Amino acid sequence: MDMNTIESVVPTTDPGQWREGDAWLAGGTVLFSYGSPVGSEEPLKRLLDLGQAGWPAVTVSDSGIELAATCTVAELYALPVSDAVAGRNWPGLDVFRPCCDSFVASFKVWNMSTVGGNVCTSLPAGPMISLCAGLDARATILGRHGSSRTVPVVEFVTGDGKNCLAPGELLRSIQLPASALSARVAFRRLSLSNLGRSGALLIGRLDADGGLVLTVTAATKRPVQLRFAAADLPDAEQLAAAVERSIPTELYHDDIHGLPEWRHDMTIRLAEEIRAELLDAPASGGGPLVVSGDFWPPHATSPQPSTQVRSTNTEQQKEA
Ligand SMILES: Cc1cc2nc3c(=O)[nH]c(=O)nc-3n(C[C@H](O)[C@H](O)[C@H](O)COP(=O)(O)OP(=O)(O)OC[C@H]3O[C@@H](n4cnc5c(N)ncnc54)[C@H](O)[C@@H]3O)c2cc1C
Repeated sequence: MDMNTIESVVPTTDPGQWREGDAWLAGGTVLFSYGSPVGSEEPLKRLLDLGQAGWPAVTVSDSGIELAATCTVAELYALPVSDAVAGRNWPGLDVFRPCCDSFVASFKVWNMSTVGGNVCTSLPAGPMISLCAGLDARATILGRHGSSRTVPVVEFVTGDGKNCLAPGELLRSIQLPASALSARVAFRRLSLSNLGRSGALLIGRLDADGGLVLTVTAATKRPVQLRFAAADLPDAEQLAAAVERSIPTELYHDDIHGLPEWRHDMTIRLAEEIRAELLDAPASGGGPLVVSGDFWPPHATSPQPSTQVRSTNTEQQKEA
């Protein structure tokens, strides 16, 4: 849409240039469709355009993967089959594509929208939030007076459309640690309708130290993470009890994409599926990642990672 209050578009990555009435512009898929940042009705005067930042989208090293805030969903989707990660024993890469696919988006949105824009929009169904929180990523944030801080992505989002950014702060990058990328992973997603927005998206990890990490997103207003030490792994009943303790009723999201009661029930169900997959199945590492939910056909002609898509829920779910 036309944003007819905009007086100028300023190409910059300097938070020092931010002033009231400004918004950072990344892919623009929120700003040009809603006409403002989510949850704000204040007319904007300037867009601070990150389009010419020139930040490398992805940087891979032995310590993990750094994603620039400006990395697009399309660039992220290409990563697991790219030379940049060839030879890395990082099973965590298997959840990258299912998370991108959870962003059921048109060609334009897919190619323009950015990891940073998705995280900063902070919707419960933000699949880049799911990915980054599920893999213990940290966000690097630049402040207006030359400061810099890092925050775990699981804490970055604080509510539906809310996050920890102060006015003018800029999300610069997101670091995914090699330790989490090296873990066995499990992924479950459900939507109420075919090609619908995620109603529940859970990522599980079995870390090298034997600990289990379960990250709940989309079902809840903000990410919720449960961590179990190797010496204290839960059975089905203990896991359900831990989910009940960690997620109070009012934290389940309530909108057209799912009632809180349904999101609660699906969270318990998918959490148990993940627990069973990671703890009860033999750790052969040979089986394909099981993915639930409905997805678009593949977005790229490049080879697909080993992924089996299946429906885990009611008749509302359609096998992809
Ligand atoms: C058809 C359609 C379907 C969609 N489906 C989904 C969905 O399923 N799930 C979902 O989460 N979203 C969805 N969205 C919303 C949106 O497209 C995504 O959240 C997208 O990832 C936003 O990224 P962007 O780069 O386009 O952000 P922009 O529109 O450029 O910016 C979004 C917000 O983030 C701020 N921002 C951007 N980058 C930074 C940064 N580096 N630092 C600080 N602030 C920043 C901007 O100021 C703005 O407030 C959908 C949108 C459309 C149009």
